[in-house]
Amino acid sequence: MKIFISGPSGVGKSTIINEVMKKNKNIVLSVSYTTRSPRPEEKDGRDYFFVLKQTFEEMTAAHMFLEWACVHNQLYGTSIEWVNEKEDKGFDVLFDIDVQGVAQIREKGVKGCFILVVPPNLDELSKRLAKRGTEAEKDVALRLENARRELSYWKNYDYLVVNDTLKSTITDIESIIRAYQCTKEFSEEKLKWLHEIG
Ligand code: ADP
Ligand code: 5GP
Repeated sequence: MKIFISGPSGVGKSTIINEVMKKNKNIVLSVSYTTRSPRPEEKDGRDYFFVLKQTFEEMTAAHMFLEWACVHNQLYGTSIEWVNEKEDKGFDVLFDIDVQGVAQIREKGVKGCFILVVPPNLDELSKRLAKRGTEAEKDVALRLENARRELSYWKNYDYLVVNDTLKSTITDIESIIRAYQCTKEFSEEKLKWLHEIG
């Protein structure tokens, strides 16, 4: 199962994903490649594979990414090999990728559960980014500027979740994942004998 979560920077994606993963041990978070610098608490290979722009460009030329995009002036991409390896081991994979990446995945017809996390309003988004304090002021401004454009992709998603109260957002996301596991699209593979009936 592939679960895609997008949303503007600071909306709470990482916070939500951490909580969902604590309770769902069969879900792994896709570790993307990026050219951005690590934040103080981030570890190479756990949060991202931090690479030079040249390495990233060599990887795109070698078609090693399922999708890739330039987000907030940095490059980010999902490794095909990494995802295949986890899926072969039987894990469900959760992707924290931006709206351009999801647009590419949609174009390829990849099956999955597509969730957009929306802030209660843009003021609240600005407060959350400031509170996190991981970006310089000019980078915060760029991330806020990009938020409107990112939210304009809402039609590409199956589910829109407003992250107002964290607890209810987590319940919403877990319910969505559970519901997706029962959809015809997802269950069909496991229930092949139903095809023999009709
Ligand atoms: P993202 O991964 O989308 O960039 P983060 O998960 O880093 O966002 O969250 C940004 C900030 O907002 C963090 O300081 C986090 O603790 C806070 N936050 C997340 N969800 C909520 C919420 N529902 N209410 C208030 N603050 C939140
Ligand atoms: P951050 O720098 O805050 O970790 O992430 C910035 C943005 O990049 C977020 O919107 C996140 O969803 C997106 N992102 C992270 N990894 C990938 C990826 O592999 N592909 C794409 N398209 N976006 C990504």
